[in-house]
Amino acid sequence: MDKEIFVDASLRPRFLKDYIGQDKVKQQIKLFIEASKRKGELLDHVLISGPPGLGKTTLAQIIANELGKNIIFTSGPVLEKKGDLAGILSSLEEGDILFIDEIHRLNSSIEEALYPAIEEFRLDIIIGKGSSSRTVSISLPKFTLIGATTRAGMLTSPLLSRFGIVLNMDYYDEDSLKQIIKRSAVIMGIEISDDAAYEIAKRSRGTPRNANRLLKRVHDYAVIHSNGIVDRDTAVNALTFLGIDEDGLDEKDRSYLDVLVNRFGCRPVGLSTISSALSESRNTVEELIEPYLLRKGYIQKTHKGRIPTEKAIKKFEK
Ligand code: ATP
Repeated sequence: MDKEIFVDASLRPRFLKDYIGQDKVKQQIKLFIEASKRKGELLDHVLISGPPGLGKTTLAQIIANELGKNIIFTSGPVLEKKGDLAGILSSLEEGDILFIDEIHRLNSSIEEALYPAIEEFRLDIIIGKGSSSRTVSISLPKFTLIGATTRAGMLTSPLLSRFGIVLNMDYYDEDSLKQIIKRSAVIMGIEISDDAAYEIAKRSRGTPRNANRLLKRVHDYAVIHSNGIVDRDTAVNALTFLGIDEDGLDEKDRSYLDVLVNRFGCRPVGLSTISSALSESRNTVEELIEPYLLRKGYIQKTHKGRIPTEKAIKKFEK
């Protein structure tokens, strides 16, 4: 098996007790899982919402493990035709969990076909064409749907209203990220000091996916420069080498702010203009770059476009 994939899979916590941070979400889901067990009923459908890389997929797998159920993974863009959905639904067994990542990207015909499936565990199939067509209903085993979305606001209200449990995940604080880094380091056999883990945590943009990626790259640096041992100085030097500043900004963030401050002279700029200036998709700009810059107070979104704040101007004006 590919080493990287193997390591990543083993990094995923398997049960709630090992899932660090997100205390509110953990308390809620723990209670609902326990209640469903005591009632002997299926867990209601769950929506997990939050930015990319926060561990939504990991949490879905944990829910399945805690319930002792199978989980089947798919995603909104993969389900193109009704047949794709029918195929996956008919493969489910009683009590299974169906995980749909990026559920906001389901097309409308699939979404409509999903309603009877999650409400009444029924799949309606149209057989034939034109006036001779008829609808045949197939009953499905009872299952729990877990949807994950980075854009809860893009979900239609009929779909949103069908989730009995909504878990809103937020960026991790530095302390939780430090713990995640230390946990991953133990699993990967990396020797790392507390203050080094904290330096990486500070620059991980509140996101475990980034934290684990940075840990691996900092370790690579340490292998070359300090016998593989990650202390604070090695971590700081490695992060500087990787082009990540003390505020967690990387090359892409700096190019973004350079476009706003220097190329457009701090005038409001639209998303399309920024994405073509950076040669990045609108999605990448909106989901991966801007949330962090907004959170760190470098940009503001106005109805006319994005503008840099004083903080950004001070740091980036040439
Ligand atoms: P999402 O579905 O939200 O995009 P994900 O579940 O696919 O995220 P990954 O990209 O795999 O997440 O990166 C997250 C990695 O970080 C996991 O593999 C795991 O190692 C770790 N991780 C995430 N959340 C936690 C947590 N709460 N506690 C411990 N480790 C975590």
